[in-house]
Parts: sequence; structure tokens; C-alpha cells
Amino acid sequence: MSTITNHMPTAELQALDAAHHMHPFTHGDGLNAKGARIITRARGVTLTDSEGNEILDAMGGLWCVNIGYGREELADVAARQMRELPFYNTFFQTSHVPAIALSAKLAELAPGDLNHIFYAGSGSEANDTNIRMVRTYWAQLGEPERNVIISRKNAYHGSSVGSGSLGGMSGMHAQGGMPIPDIHHIDQPNWYAEGGDTDPEAFGLERARQLEAKIEELGAHRVAAFIAEPVQGAGGVIVPPDSYWPEIQRICDKYGILLIADEVICGFGRTGKWFGSQTYNIRPDIMTIAKGLSSGYAPIGGSIVSDKVAQVMNACEFNHGYTYSGHPVSCAVALENLRILEEEKIVERVANDTGPYLQEKWRGLAEHPLVGEAKIVGMMGSIALTPDKVSRAKFASDPGTAGYICRERCFANKLVMRHVGDRMIISPPLVISKSEIDTLIERAWMSLDQAEQAIRADGLMQSAA
Ligand SMILES: *Cc1c(COP(=O)(O)O)cnc(C)c1O
Repeated sequence: MSTITNHMPTAELQALDAAHHMHPFTHGDGLNAKGARIITRARGVTLTDSEGNEILDAMGGLWCVNIGYGREELADVAARQMRELPFYNTFFQTSHVPAIALSAKLAELAPGDLNHIFYAGSGSEANDTNIRMVRTYWAQLGEPERNVIISRKNAYHGSSVGSGSLGGMSGMHAQGGMPIPDIHHIDQPNWYAEGGDTDPEAFGLERARQLEAKIEELGAHRVAAFIAEPVQGAGGVIVPPDSYWPEIQRICDKYGILLIADEVICGFGRTGKWFGSQTYNIRPDIMTIAKGLSSGYAPIGGSIVSDKVAQVMNACEFNHGYTYSGHPVSCAVALENLRILEEEKIVERVANDTGPYLQEKWRGLAEHPLVGEAKIVGMMGSIALTPDKVSRAKFASDPGTAGYICRERCFANKLVMRHVGDRMIISPPLVISKSEIDTLIERAWMSLDQAEQAIRADGLMQSAA
């Protein structure tokens, strides 16, 4: 047994964490000075920390714990699979039952002719696969110069060098030599922040047509693919205007470029259908999956590939793969997760029952004086904090100052709600009950009240010029 247990005093755990553990997307010195919050266990939608606090996790871990915490079935399946076949590779003319069974299940669930799965250990890895796959696809078809991938500013596609380049996060591009060549970014369909006086639907069309303009600028013969999240997640749950996706689909069809839907968050029920592509009537050639695929119980990601693309890829040897591509334990856990999602009709509940309940309550937060808009699709939602509801003004303070104040109030009120800049976002487990939704909204409202008081007291209720 490890000598590190959950029963050490919090301060000792924090000291060891500060001494030896480097955290992702974290200012190390800042965290180490105050000490990390230690999460020790979880059930349903509720986390318990090392001090015994019970916290409602409105982020579903990191957008991933769709079936909620503590499902014994997944633990049992993992243990059984570890005993039977803990690992074998799929590189050298071999396969195994969990990878085969999961592939067949995903082909059944995925829309259209998306029937083939290339596995990865995470969403980032899967998007790295996609970069190489779409370029190899066109090279196989005799068009090796078609290597440009168009993405969007403020998109999130992962944190590896390739997927981080696809993403449009300026803070990431500023570190470590990104983006890699031949990735281009167009503007996001973020009407609230960037739409000015334009009508939202007209703005959606305008932003979609940037794709066409970029293709024309670069030359259609150079463009391999366009990648986007059906709803931007880490960018702040940016819900596109209804006009946006049909126009994007039209443009991809017109120029024959591949469409990659990054479903890492939107997949597996998050938007009220199995995939965000179904919610928005998108016909992707490739879908990136991870997160909700296993509800976060085991690391796994992948690319679901259309017949058209698979046929070309299967005609060559793709010199690509990960040791953990199709890891048997992760595949077995994912399959059991899909069984639960399906048999307990969790996606249907998001569409018809608890989803609409949450949406109505969430939209009510727009009444709060600090909130400029409240957006939600299925069970992913965001609110924009503003010093002036009428003009949708940004704060004069550094972006994220108000959001951070609000997030700290949420934590104090036993609610995990994340901030992206000055937007607050939620993505709760899809099994959240109506009474838990009531608690979520109560705590959110209370936190907004307290944040507003603090923001006023700090003299921060000022609009940017
Ligand atoms: C989280 C995320 C990824 C990256 O997945 P990891 O498993 O963290 O590598 C990719 N795309 C989207 C849309 C994501 O939200």
C-alpha cells in the first residue's frame, strides 16, 4: 500500500503537493502559497474535500463525469478487465475484445457513416491524430499540398503541441513555439462579446463566411479541413447563433473540405443528443471524442471516422499510434459507461426532463444585476458578468478579475462553477436531479450577490472604455 492516504492532515497534503506536484494551467507559486483544495471522494454530483466539506460539482469534474461519481459497475468492470487482460497492444496484427466491442458500439451510436474508430489516450492525442489523418488523406488522394487546417480563435482542442496549435487560445500560443505551420484561425461566433450592434443571426452568418473568405484567400486546393466544437466549451460555453452551423456546413460541402467536429465535450449527451453534431445538424467527416466517453473514469479518446475517410486511410499504412490506443481497461470502462447512459435513458432526460428544468432556471440568472446574458444548451451553460447589462460592457479591470471573485464565492458556498475570463460556466453530471438543480441555482444566485457586493466594494463595477 502507498504511504500516502486521504487521512493525512490537510496541511501536510498541501505541503507535499506544493513541494512535488506541478499543476496544469496553474500559477505554481500562487497556488503553493495558499495550498490546493484536496478532494478525497465523490458520489453522484457531490465532492467531499479533506476537511469534510461537501461541494456540488457543477463542472462534472472537467466536463466529463456525465454519469456522476461513484458508479460501482465501472469499478467492477475495470477490476475484471485488469484481471483478464490488463493490457495488450493493437499495433501488430492483434486486437482484443474490449476495443472491438467498443468500436462496434460507437459505430452504432454515431450518426451517418461515422463507422470507424482510431483510439487515443485523450482528446489532445485524438486531435493530433486528426491533424495527421486529414493531411495523409489528401496526400493519399494525390493532393499533398492540401495541408492547411482552419480553426477558430478561442477554440480549445487540447494541450499537446498539435492540438494546442489547432486551438485558438492566445495564452497557449504565447508559450512553447505554437502554433505549428499551416494552421489558420478565423473569428469565433461569440455574439455577446464581439457582435456589437449586429443582429445575432446576421452576425452568425458573417462569422461563418469568414471560413469561405479564408479558403478563398489561401486557395481551396490548399485547405484540408475545418475543425470546430459544436459549442465552444473551454472558451466559455459560447453558444453559436442558429444561422452559424448551416452556413459552415454549406461552405465545407461547396469546397469539399473535411469537417472535424470536436465532440470531446458535446459528445455523449451533453447537448441533449448523443452528439452535438446531431443537435446542430452537422455532418462531420471525423468526430473527436474523449471526456464523457468514459465519464472520466478511465483515460480514453479517439477519432470516429467516416466510411469515405476510412476507405482512403485503410489503403495505406498510417505511421501513427499510441501505446494506449484502445487500452483494454479504458475500453471496457467506456463500454459500461455507454450502457448506463443508454439503459438509464440519461440522454433522453437531458433532452426532455432535467435538461429543460435546468435551462429554465439557468436562464433566470439573466435577471441578476451582475449578469449580461445566460446561455445554455442541454447541460452546458454560461453567464456573462458585466458592470452594465444594457450595453453588455466589459469590466475595466483585467479580464477574469470579476470572474475569479465570483468563482471564489462559489467555492465558499459549496459550488464548483468555473470562470473563463468574466464568464461563469457549468457542465454538471447529466444525472443531476431537480432538487440538486435547485441547490445549484440557489448557490449560484447567492454567490452572484456576494460577488456583486465584493466587486462594488473593490471599486471594480466600472465599464471598460
Ligand atoms: C478537453 C478538450 C480536449 C482535450 O482533451 P484532453 O483529454 O484534455 O486531452 C479537446 N477538445 C475539447 C473540445 C475539449 O474540451
